[in-house]
Amino acid sequence: TLILAIETSCDETAAAVIENGRYVRANAVASQIETHKLYGGVVPEIASRQHVEQMTIVMEKAMREAGVTFQDLTAVAVTEGPGLVGALLVGVNAAKAVAYAHSLPLVPVHHLAGHIYANRLVHDVKYPLLSLIVSGGHTELVYMPEEGVYELIGETRDDAVGEAYDKVARTLGLPYPGGPAVDQLAQTGEASLEFPRAWLEEGSYDFSFSGLKSSVLNTLHNATQRNVELAREDVACSFQASVVDVLVTKTAAAAKAYDVEQVLLAGGVAANQTLREAMETKMAAEGRQLLVPPLWLCTDNAAMIGAAADVAYRSGARADLDLNAKPGLALK
Ligand code: ATP
Ligand code: MG
Ligand code: FE
Repeated sequence: TLILAIETSCDETAAAVIENGRYVRANAVASQIETHKLYGGVVPEIASRQHVEQMTIVMEKAMREAGVTFQDLTAVAVTEGPGLVGALLVGVNAAKAVAYAHSLPLVPVHHLAGHIYANRLVHDVKYPLLSLIVSGGHTELVYMPEEGVYELIGETRDDAVGEAYDKVARTLGLPYPGGPAVDQLAQTGEASLEFPRAWLEEGSYDFSFSGLKSSVLNTLHNATQRNVELAREDVACSFQASVVDVLVTKTAAAAKAYDVEQVLLAGGVAANQTLREAMETKMAAEGRQLLVPPLWLCTDNAAMIGAAADVAYRSGARADLDLNAKPGLALK
């Protein structure tokens, strides 16, 4: 199969051409980070408009790099949700136009399935497996008994991990997106501050990061008020230690309970160096294999959508030309 995949759920306009679900023929991404940086976060209206400006350019770039014509394609795939509705609509409409003009099957893809299947572009994935999705809008533990089947066993009850990173970064005076900036600052600090860890009820695989976020913000606020000198790198390092501790402990417990050989990390926060290392150490100690995508496949891209589209295409998933954007779509 040769699939053209399109992704516009948030602030990257992306298109990719994927062969047989695993080989990246082309992967084009136009990031809007520099624009949204000015506002300290993603502005939905601006995101939609930039997607409109970039969509055709990015799609043509991917087709050119792959050296293919529309006649060569097996299908066109697109992220239908979840994400910003106005942003999703640009990709959905572009994909529908291509499907209609070239009589191609249209394959709808869930954005988080994309994050998970990013791993399949670089690793041999074996079922059953457990996947931890940590991104800007989601924190989910998903059990997959087989290909294309997703069982949500735990999720955040408030903030997503990436969201907590972005808010803490903002308070520390670091630029958007906050994750990479906090990660980098934390490398130079020590985990000398005691921040809370939300374990929730015994046996629960759910998460909560709003208490931790508030605790970090209060600590910084109180220090400023009392004129106490607080090392920012220690705050970043202590915050990260709390996040990583909870993510690794809960994922390890779930991996044991579900008796999986493989654990997959997915989503933008999977780019976090400390998380990658701590998870790798823990899984290796328990005889499990950790799969992590390379950094360029962690944050939003269309190659991962093409990888998930191959699975969806083979299982017969098709959309009609009345396909709509689904901003709150659940993974199932
Ligand atoms: P979702 O996938 O839930 O719809 P999204 O697509 O906006 O949300 P991603 O692109 O998957 O999110 O990830 C972006 C998030 O990852 C941001 O919150 C960013 O701060 C975080 N992030 C990126 N790199 C790192 C890092 N090295 N450490 C921690 N967080 C990071
Ligand atoms: Mg993004
Ligand atoms: Fe994402």
